[in-house]
Amino acid sequence: MRQIGIHLLHSNTEYDLEYTYLAEESLIQSGTLVRGSFASVPFGMRKKTETGVVWSIGEEYTGGTTYELKEIKSVSGIRPPLEDHEIKLAERMSEMYFCSIGECVKCMVPPEAPGGRSVKYVSLPDGFDEADGQEAISKLRNIDQIRIIEMLRKGPAPAAQLARDAGCSLSVINTLEKKGLVNVYKASQARTDPERRAGAPALPTYDRHELNEEQKRAYDLITGLIHKRKFSECLVHGVTGSGKTELYMQLIADTVENGGNAVMLVPEIALTPQMTAHFTHRFGDRVAVLHSRMNDRERRRQWDKIKNGDVSVAIGARSAVFAPFEDLRLIILDEEHEPSYRSEDRPPRYHAAEIAEEIGKIRDAVIVYGSATPRVETYYRAAKGSIYYVPLTKRAGRAALPEIVTEDMREARINGEIYGSGIFSARMVRELTENYEKGRQAMLFVHRRGYARRMLCTKCGAVMKCGGCNLPMTYHEKGNRLICHHCGRTVPAPETCPACGSGDFDKKGAGTQKAAEELQKLFPNAAVLRMDTDTTSGEGGHGKILAAFASGEGEFLVGTQMIAKGHDFPNVTLVGIISADSLINMPDYKAEERAFELLTQMSGRAGRGNDAGKVIIQAYNMDDYAITASVHNSYAEFYRNEIEVRKALSYPPFSALCILKFAGENDKEVYSTAADACAGMKKAASDYMRSGVGAGGGVGIGGCCPEILGPARSEIPKVNNRYRWVITLKAADRRSLTDFLSYWTNNGKMLKKIRKNASLSVIFDGR
Ligand code: ADP
Ligand code: ZN
Ligand code: ZN
Repeated sequence: MRQIGIHLLHSNTEYDLEYTYLAEESLIQSGTLVRGSFASVPFGMRKKTETGVVWSIGEEYTGGTTYELKEIKSVSGIRPPLEDHEIKLAERMSEMYFCSIGECVKCMVPPEAPGGRSVKYVSLPDGFDEADGQEAISKLRNIDQIRIIEMLRKGPAPAAQLARDAGCSLSVINTLEKKGLVNVYKASQARTDPERRAGAPALPTYDRHELNEEQKRAYDLITGLIHKRKFSECLVHGVTGSGKTELYMQLIADTVENGGNAVMLVPEIALTPQMTAHFTHRFGDRVAVLHSRMNDRERRRQWDKIKNGDVSVAIGARSAVFAPFEDLRLIILDEEHEPSYRSEDRPPRYHAAEIAEEIGKIRDAVIVYGSATPRVETYYRAAKGSIYYVPLTKRAGRAALPEIVTEDMREARINGEIYGSGIFSARMVRELTENYEKGRQAMLFVHRRGYARRMLCTKCGAVMKCGGCNLPMTYHEKGNRLICHHCGRTVPAPETCPACGSGDFDKKGAGTQKAAEELQKLFPNAAVLRMDTDTTSGEGGHGKILAAFASGEGEFLVGTQMIAKGHDFPNVTLVGIISADSLINMPDYKAEERAFELLTQMSGRAGRGNDAGKVIIQAYNMDDYAITASVHNSYAEFYRNEIEVRKALSYPPFSALCILKFAGENDKEVYSTAADACAGMKKAASDYMRSGVGAGGGVGIGGCCPEILGPARSEIPKVNNRYRWVITLKAADRRSLTDFLSYWTNNGKMLKKIRKNASLSVIFDGR
């Protein structure tokens, strides 16, 4: 018998323990059990079966342990053993994200297909066409039943999964079956491939374009790098419509023709049937698609195709970065600035760009980041010359840039040019009216709902900021106080503006609902669509509203930043941004970056069709550089300003942050857990420096020991009845953070204690 070190894959591993099991010598001799193999092992008091990954193969077992070691009987079939490069990646990830090996390996394991055994499937009856369907649905009164039918329009699905996704019980499906509205059958295979459902209309796509000069230069440079078979990174900084997608497809084509594999990552929201159609048009059945809306069986099927070498290209959302290709040479991240590239809900809380970079290093692949508004940290690396910079400055097709005008709300107020409750300026109303009378559509952008409120002086535009962090503080009616959600500082709300002495503050801001109501009052005969988290909770709700608006239903669409993305609206000729202040005044050091990106995106929504569009930006902080740079349509101008601020305040890329998020149902308990952790950390910090473990000494950016801020109430203090507190650590680099965390938690053991009282998530930012 040999001793085998196993990491369990279940995700509640508190720290990175390797458990010891035993295995027959013959399993090892025959090559059945190797490093990276998966095995089902008995675990815990009740000997529950858990899946684990073999991490070390040790010595002959001669007894002598105080407890009895259990034996591995067989390997698990959930996937073939990890490749060496996957093992390396898992090790690297567990360092980078301060999480267990098991959690990292889990990213590389496909969902378990409901193997062999047949499951209950549900489908719409044959011949259930639109008219029939509408009629049947119109008779239904039960919302769960309607939702099930809606979901089935996308194709058959396993009953259990359907019920889970719809948030209802299986009896709803039984009722529908009795009414004859659905078919239920047993199958071990989905009857129809959801991708190729008969009758699905072919989506418009286009053939390969002859590359223009700029594209060609980019193509030559990047293919040159790929042919070298060495790790390198490129930023493709291309304005919207500059033909980035065309460039990507040709880079992939070149890779595939040379026998290599490529992964194309896109933000979840951009992974539309249209996007997939472009790829299948070029690459036929050599492409696999991976996204989170697929059921486990389908995801598994795509994964197997990649693993077996049946396809050469994968397109998918962030987790597709783990696609198990044999000869990976290229990873592209389209819209690399998109926040959805960060995985936040469970460990490892990774960023797909960081994973791509590590994979690139391990496998000698080329990584391409594409965006019209790249992350400051990516552009910074390009500016320093650490990664290649490839600009695409011209639009490939025709499409005019919209006219962007600004409306200074301070002046509008002084001149009494304000409509109603103050959401719209008189000018905005005039423009909206004119556009409406021409029979055109308009989109109105209102700030993110649920965000805590800031205190804004309506006379001079100043927003009340924390003296320590220079971030906007949020206003809390209770106690009439301002709170900093970064460092926790709280002060009484001032009576008068420290900048101009005025006493007129806006402490509320307008939400989507209010804006939609006022708009409806202004245009009683118009259809006003609204999109925010209230109206989009159901599956596909988001897409449905956008699709309705795109097809011309409704004259106005009011929404949060959700409406800036994912669709083309040819008939939209006016975009109104109600309060650009709310974008830049978020209590987040990336607020300016997001504001610039969103304003650029929103502007891109106007005038996509034949008519030039217009964008009106209302703001109090008219001189803010994110606003002015977006009016000038200049990323360079934005970056010049932003990088100075980051440097002055030591935010990434000049530092790395670690955000520890505590959450739980009992506010006091969550707070005291966070406060204890914080106090413990501060004490550990002084020991850390004194003991010389953290060589170099010193706190903060200059030293080895992170600066510790908090605990502070989270920007959104309560979600789903759970109270949230945060601690922020700031240090020169990621390594200083993880080294310190490892010291403080005693290699993770401390976390177990903390997690008894509150859930804890650890998120890193910066390299
Ligand atoms: P991006 O991804 O940068 O927004 P796309 O690749 O979607 O841009 O290209 C925008 C439009 O320009 C598309 O309709 C595309 O077909 C077209 N296009 C791209 N490259 C060329 C080219 N070399 N010549 C002509 N049209 C092109
Ligand atoms: Zn003021
Ligand atoms: Zn502060």
